[in-house]
Amino acid sequence: ATSLARIYQRHQGLFGRNSPVRAVDQISLTVAPGETLGIVGESGSGKSTLGRMILGLERPDEGTVRFDGQPMALPASAEWRRSRTRMQMIYQDPLGALDRRLSVLDQVREPLDIHQRGDKAERPGRALAMLDRVGLSQHLAGRYPHELSGGQRQRVVLARALMTEPAFLVCDEPVSALDVSIQAQVVNLLIDLQEEFRLAMLFISHDLRVVRQISRRVAVMYLGRFVEEGDADDLFARPLHPYTQALVSAAPAPGAKTQRIILTGEPPDPSSRPPGCAFHPRCPLATARCRAEIPERRTLQGGRSVACHLVEGAVNQTREAA
Ligand code: SF4
Ligand code: MG
Repeated sequence: ATSLARIYQRHQGLFGRNSPVRAVDQISLTVAPGETLGIVGESGSGKSTLGRMILGLERPDEGTVRFDGQPMALPASAEWRRSRTRMQMIYQDPLGALDRRLSVLDQVREPLDIHQRGDKAERPGRALAMLDRVGLSQHLAGRYPHELSGGQRQRVVLARALMTEPAFLVCDEPVSALDVSIQAQVVNLLIDLQEEFRLAMLFISHDLRVVRQISRRVAVMYLGRFVEEGDADDLFARPLHPYTQALVSAAPAPGAKTQRIILTGEPPDPSSRPPGCAFHPRCPLATARCRAEIPERRTLQGGRSVACHLVEGAVNQTREAA
């Protein structure tokens, strides 16, 4: 399993200010092979930082990242580079991830050359087979990135990422730049590939519809922390944290009868974290306690966990009644 525990991160202040910013704080998560954990939240919530930290592209000040039970090696060490072939990142912009000077076939075979995988003579054949697997016809093999559509490019990125047989994939808004009709195709491809290769996947997106489709579990991030986590279907059907309720009400499931909650106030600014519950300036249910006291994340029945004073109160009441 790819397990990750207690990650903390301090960021240098924005605009050269020196005040440290906690972009990601007190996060603990585990992703098992064949499982997708969705991470949702607005921009500025720390989703991308979390993904980058897990892959060792940014270093946490405190906490550990474990891969296959072992602590991750120091970034840029030989050992880290080895484990990095088994952990891949898929970004929103496939053109930025590809080398404009390499043909599709060369993009996909290059990881085999870099890591000296398999017989040299067999590499083009393996790359062609992977292109086929991601649904790209072989006549595109000689094309260059700028000659492809956005969806085709993201398929090339996926084919390339899979060549080193990764166990863990971080997808950071992988379909957000694509047309809606293409998004569904790429999401379905990701679901197929994940099953076939038993990938552990972290799927980061601000788009709840996409996350709902692909994830088994979902974590909701607000200002660097998980405010709610749980089974995806259950969480979207019955969100408990007021922030999750607002997100879900803005993108209701088809046929769902949810009351629309409009988020007011400023979206998260990591450099000025409100005291108490960081969501309180925008929360329609905030009380005096919310402004003073940070709510702890509590685990409820069914594996759901929520960080909200009100939800905590409701749980205590059921405990007292029982
Ligand atoms: Fe709203 Fe208070 Fe719950 Fe925070 S702790 S989400 S402010 S009710
Ligand atoms: Mg981001």
